[in-house]
Amino acid sequence: MAEDTTGQEDIRWAPRVPKHKIRRLYEWESKGILDEELIEDVGFMLLLRCQAILTIRDAREGRVKCPRCEREGATTIVPRPQERGPDARMECDRCDWAITWGAYHKTYQHKQLHSGGAVAAFETYVKAYGRARTPKAKILAIDRLIHEFHYSLRTDPDQPTRPAAVNLIQGKLTDVARFLDELTYGEAATAELESRRREWRDTVDRIPWMALPAREPADGSDSEER
Ligand SMILES: [Zn+2]
Repeated sequence: MAEDTTGQEDIRWAPRVPKHKIRRLYEWESKGILDEELIEDVGFMLLLRCQAILTIRDAREGRVKCPRCEREGATTIVPRPQERGPDARMECDRCDWAITWGAYHKTYQHKQLHSGGAVAAFETYVKAYGRARTPKAKILAIDRLIHEFHYSLRTDPDQPTRPAAVNLIQGKLTDVARFLDELTYGEAATAELESRRREWRDTVDRIPWMALPAREPADGSDSEER
């Protein structure tokens, strides 16, 4: 039987932010300049990305938001049937949108859209960004979000498992972590950013498999890569 892909064409998940935009944001910030347009651009992309992650979280918990109604500015929640298999079919009462759970699932698979152990971080950003009125408040919300972590849900809620930035910034996990570690912070950098950066690095160091290069070799010698 051919796979039923009906309904997928209405779904568009917001992409991750390209690294060059984040890099520029921090380069300007390090010089004490707040580029309002760039902050707005990055901040809004992150907002859409967090909303997509939370929409998928809701869908997995049984509340699927109709994408066709959403485009028209209406919020319609289509309940996911009790029968949880891939063939379970969902139909919107308000418009004609319909999809199987299997087809819906395929639209977000392998795209780093799983909320995992960082739900609170994504929710906090959506609220904080909505409230932020100044470029400064916006950049602080952005900075906080991209330095968040996923935490182990079951075994140990205090154990960080991976940086949340991988859900938000383009690239592979270690690649994105290294990128954050190397962002420019100048003398004019806001104190909050600087201290969060240090906290972030300390937390990364608590994730056993995530070894980033040491910041400054203690003896000043070259740390050769093996
Ligand atoms: Zn609808």
